[in-house]
Amino acid sequence: MAKTVKDLSLNGKKVLIRVDFNVPIKDGKITNDNRIVAALPTIKHVLAENGKVVLFSHLGRIKTEEDKIKNTLKPVAERLSQLLSKEVKFIPATRGEALESAITGMKEGEVLLVENTRFEKGETKNDPELGKYWASLGEVYINDAFGTAHRSHASNVGISEHLNSAPGFLLEKEIKFIGGTVSNPARPLVAILGGAKVSDKIGVIENLIEKADKILVGGGMMFTFMKALGKDIGKSLVEEDKVELAKELLKKADGKLVLPVDTVAAKEFKNDTDFKTVSVDNISGDEMGLDIGAETIKLFENELEGAKTVVWNGPMGVFEMENFAKGTIGVCEAIASLEGATTIIGGGDSAAAAMELGYADKFTHISTGGGASLEYLEGKVLPGIDCLK
Ligand code: ADP
Ligand code: MG
Repeated sequence: MAKTVKDLSLNGKKVLIRVDFNVPIKDGKITNDNRIVAALPTIKHVLAENGKVVLFSHLGRIKTEEDKIKNTLKPVAERLSQLLSKEVKFIPATRGEALESAITGMKEGEVLLVENTRFEKGETKNDPELGKYWASLGEVYINDAFGTAHRSHASNVGISEHLNSAPGFLLEKEIKFIGGTVSNPARPLVAILGGAKVSDKIGVIENLIEKADKILVGGGMMFTFMKALGKDIGKSLVEEDKVELAKELLKKADGKLVLPVDTVAAKEFKNDTDFKTVSVDNISGDEMGLDIGAETIKLFENELEGAKTVVWNGPMGVFEMENFAKGTIGVCEAIASLEGATTIIGGGDSAAAAMELGYADKFTHISTGGGASLEYLEGKVLPGIDCLK
């Protein structure tokens, strides 16, 4: 991508920035402000260049009027204000006179946050009128929201069509690490896939078979493959309609796919229950596999040895429960001990796992976008990035 934020003239301009402030909020309190912190470099740069910062973001899913009450961005404005140590003016509207006059009255170095973009029905449909209207409020546009880059919405693609645009620093970082990894990785490239959303991720394997040298499969995803191999998987997570695809992938993978040899199995999906490590050939009918076993951790460690690029999406087990977190910790440890490797972890739960388990600083890059990072890894064109070209 040719253009960056640094090529934009920002002095005195009304700079519209699409950020990803889709943070977890419980009882009106932000429980993890990581995404707000991640947006600071771009915001600070615009302020340093004497721009007027107008921020757009979505928060949660809006279907009913009630959803609007719990998904207001007001608490985000307060947190951002603390982080920037300056006033952040929150406008509880997505259009209209109050918003327009607030922006018109802004001075250089001021920050304003517009209410949740998804309060507008046209946002997720990329309604051309909405994108044009929002664009009319500013003079320059920066997209720094990687989490929605795989979607064509009014606040990313729509606005960009009307203004001089560039990716923000966070988006640039994602493009550099994930894009760079996909187009020209240092080898060996080892991909690790796990988690629960099998149907979302199995397509990634198809694409990665061409690109990766090894693909390690753990988490809930492993059992669809076990089933494809004709094994009994008891009550383990499985997506029946992907079993055929799993069979095809096993054939196509030509030994590149590495599957677990053992699993930590339990009769109930909870931490306080009996559990034991069993071979993947010995899962009984009333059990479910909730983590990869110790032998598999060793196997994965060996496969990771000497890797120069590692991309990881999806925890190895139900890491939220202590008794089923060892597989994810084991893989974190193995990655932490690699020398001179580029290591990338992406996905909402995967990033949370790396942080909660204390390994955040062991990765080269923690991607902020779940679905977006996967589609990018698959080699798809992301509309939110493409529109900036
Ligand atoms: P991400 O958010 O990183 O993309 P997913 O949403 O696909 O990852 O999956 C994360 C979830 O997968 C976690 O909540 C974890 O508890 C769950 N998980 C991992 N392994 C298993 C398993 N063996 N059985 C059921 N759930 C699992
Ligand atoms: Mg998830």
